[in-house]
Amino acid sequence: MPHDSDGFRRAADEAADWIARYLADPRRHRVNPSIKPGELIDALPKAGPVEGHPLDAIFADFERTILPAVGHWNHPRFFNYFACTGSTPGVISEMLSAALNTNGLNWVASPAVSELEQVALSWLRQWMGLSDDYFGQIFDTASTSTMHAIMAARELADPASRLEGQTTRLTVYCSDQAHSSVDKAVVAAGLGLNNLRKIESDESFRMIPAKLTDALANDKANGFTPCCVVATVGTTSTTAVDPLEPILDVAAPYNAWVHIDAAYAGAAALLPEYEWMLRGNARAHSLVVNPHKWLFTPVDCSAFYTRHPDVLRRTFTITPEYLRTTGDPREVNLMDYGVSLGRRFRGLKLWYVLRYFGLQKLQELLRGHIAMARQFEAWVAADDRFELAAPVPLSTVCFRLRGEDSESRTRAMVAAVNAGGEAFISQTNLKGRYAARVAIGNLATEPQDIAALWRCLQR
Ligand code: PLP
Repeated sequence: MPHDSDGFRRAADEAADWIARYLADPRRHRVNPSIKPGELIDALPKAGPVEGHPLDAIFADFERTILPAVGHWNHPRFFNYFACTGSTPGVISEMLSAALNTNGLNWVASPAVSELEQVALSWLRQWMGLSDDYFGQIFDTASTSTMHAIMAARELADPASRLEGQTTRLTVYCSDQAHSSVDKAVVAAGLGLNNLRKIESDESFRMIPAKLTDALANDKANGFTPCCVVATVGTTSTTAVDPLEPILDVAAPYNAWVHIDAAYAGAAALLPEYEWMLRGNARAHSLVVNPHKWLFTPVDCSAFYTRHPDVLRRTFTITPEYLRTTGDPREVNLMDYGVSLGRRFRGLKLWYVLRYFGLQKLQELLRGHIAMARQFEAWVAADDRFELAAPVPLSTVCFRLRGEDSESRTRAMVAAVNAGGEAFISQTNLKGRYAARVAIGNLATEPQDIAALWRCLQR
């Protein structure tokens, strides 16, 4: 029997009940698991079953064996990396999309995949204040989105490269605070890491436009072709915001593609008080924002926007006969805009999440996180044992212990907090100095969680 409806209903009821309890109180779990590498592998059979197991037995093992090895990103005291929270609409839409298992290779294969993605991304575009000519598509991660930006930049700067491979020496620019995904994108596009220029950042960790000017001029004089500038709006370590408009001014004479990496902080553009961050976006070429970071959409959901979809199409369109479609001008075949052919129905979860919360609630949640970060920042600033390690423009706070052995004592503090399992924080390196880092962005985080973390750090 291909599908056992009764069995499904029983197992789904049990899972739904478990999920409802889990989402209502993720605090019941340690935020980070306390297991050693390889422990889960050792706890599971070395080979798969010859005869299948019933769903209730599999679920029992999920609870007993798998769950203790899970890092609880839904936990309100998950302050590591950037938060990524499951939400009710996110879970339901993922369940529906798994049930449909539809694959939007092209428009014909599943019109809803193509069209709902356009609709949800258009809502988000408007809320973020992006110019109307941004065309959007959803990738898995910001790393993939940025790789597509750099591949399109290569096409624009070196149109012969699609047929010949790279024909000129192309260079890419980002700040010394940019995410490592830019480096990976340069590798993936075959441009070579030696051709990635890390532009110095200022004392607030923002790219210095004058240094970009020098680097571009120097490269041009030495026979390189500047191909792409990546401006980060919300760096990973400190959430610094590169000055977009000056960067656009500097890049313009070189016709270099300007990509905005707003993977985390782009969400804050939903707030009118953060409109300044993306001012100038109408002159940039592309932008990435991850709804799976700070917009309560389950991983994976990275929104990639470009004002030059024609360049993406030039880069990626290859259509074997079996993928030919109707040719209707309104039909969007997302396979033509990137590397992958198969496409999950990610637009469904983004649409569900945006509709469920609505702009007002999302704004309220984001403001709540920013306010909690301000509170935490104030506690750090008022305690002479600590110092702030960077400005706090959004909802992430970097700090360290003062005095001798600052690094080793701060390291020990981070390790002690994380070993306790009550809260999970991270560390970073800021211009050679170690700092602890707390990122607030979880749907369930409340002031009591920040207070608990502060008590933990005090201990
Ligand atoms: N860009 C920035 C600014 C980030 O902070 C991150 C990850 O934290 C990324 C890109 C990469 O994100 P992803 O995991 O979606 O590839």
